[in-house]
Amino acid sequence: MLRTIDLRGRTLTPVELREALPRAEVNIDVATERVRPILHRVRHEGARALADLAENFDGVRPPSLRVPVEALTQALQALDPTVRSALEEAIRRARLGHEAQVPKEATTSLGPGAQVRQRWVPVQRVGLYVPGGLAALVSSVVMNVVPAQVAGVGSLAVASPPQKDNDGLPDATILAACALLGVDEVYAAGGAQAIGMFAYGVTTEMNGSNGSNGSNGTAGAAGTPRAVDPANSCPPVDVVTGPGNIYVAAAKRAVLGVVGIDSEAGTTEIAVLADESADPAYVAADLISQAEHDPAAGSVLVTDSPALAEAVAAQIGAQADGAKHAQRIRTALTGAQSGIVLADDLDHAIEVVDAYAAEHLEIHTADAAAVAERIHNAGAIFVGPHSPVPLGDYIAGSNHVLPTGGTARYASGLGVQAYLKSVQVICYDAQGLDDVTDHLVTLAESEDLPAHGRAATLRRER
Ligand code: NAD
Repeated sequence: MLRTIDLRGRTLTPVELREALPRAEVNIDVATERVRPILHRVRHEGARALADLAENFDGVRPPSLRVPVEALTQALQALDPTVRSALEEAIRRARLGHEAQVPKEATTSLGPGAQVRQRWVPVQRVGLYVPGGLAALVSSVVMNVVPAQVAGVGSLAVASPPQKDNDGLPDATILAACALLGVDEVYAAGGAQAIGMFAYGVTTEMNGSNGSNGSNGTAGAAGTPRAVDPANSCPPVDVVTGPGNIYVAAAKRAVLGVVGIDSEAGTTEIAVLADESADPAYVAADLISQAEHDPAAGSVLVTDSPALAEAVAAQIGAQADGAKHAQRIRTALTGAQSGIVLADDLDHAIEVVDAYAAEHLEIHTADAAAVAERIHNAGAIFVGPHSPVPLGDYIAGSNHVLPTGGTARYASGLGVQAYLKSVQVICYDAQGLDDVTDHLVTLAESEDLPAHGRAATLRRER
């Protein structure tokens, strides 16, 4: 089912290597062009566009943009106790993992009366995206909300696609998880349109007309107060985070600058780096597990063992046929984004996975921990046969919102820092400033900016 790319004996530059590796045909550049008109509509037509787009893409018009708080409470009351208990454990572990990420404030003394401090400040309002197209990812509620809460963000809003089988509300388990985490601001909006709603804000007046987006539009042209309809409005946020399909990732890229984003956490991909010691049944199961997400998901095996490659291919054939989402899995595994890559040896295989920069990288080699230390580029690394990617998807205590499409070369997975900004606080007294004034003036003159120097010498004269 998986095609084979044989890189043995080939010497490629990192760029050539990247091009030789499997990647999706619909990439983020293509998707970005498709989502621009959607973002434009949301920005200019507000809630009306969101309702039309929901009908078009999700097959249902939500009763209101914002989910009533009673619906959240009811969903939590109706939540299956075993699901609740699993969610509580996932939340507990995620909290522990993310609390350990909180950066410490740093204060540096540069001399008498000269101090620089780095403060970490949470952003004020965030929009958290929870996928709900092919599957409703309740786990993504935990992965977004927990780090935002640990960071101390004051205002959290969640959006997830409206569901036909839940009367146009987002999935009931997603609503229950929001309630469990104390989030009461939830919107029935999916895809690029949800990202646009968060970035630009949506204001609907009580008469149903579209207010001026991005403001909370409470004053009319003549200064008369206008009443805003809170059920169909969403104030803009400062940062948008969360996973999604290629259109969600593309929309995040397109609104970057209007808001901050975490990473381009798009369509799932897994790379497995394995040698002859790997168990082919485990490797096949893990490649299939991520293919289950999306027909566009990428599953790549990189190995220096042709015998293992053959055994994994046989296992995939055997395991995929009986899978619940066999058709989706088959499409993902036979697509251009999936394959088996044969490498010369372990060093070459490491070079290949570094060039691929997988969202998820599993290592099944004789000394997996040592190999993991040699990897530069991966969103998350899963070490050894008992750390499969689904562990991280749900309950490891790590975060499953991870950079895709090779962006793990420079981007990180979601964590507390996505919701924090560092603010540098500079505090010098007269002595501290005087000690460096000569150097400051020299540098200012070297840049031909004498007024900069004057700001310091004026104080010395006083
Ligand atoms: P989703 O909620 O991400 O997307 C559904 C929305 O996509 C719909 O509401 C619709 O508005 C939009 N859409 C669908 N087709 C479109 C088109 N042709 N043009 C414009 N918009 C369109 O749910 P999903 O589709 O199930 O995707 C979830 C994705 O999240 C999967 O691809 C999965 O691999 C990915 N994921 C990624 C990570 C990560 O961290 N990278 C983590 C978990 C899941």
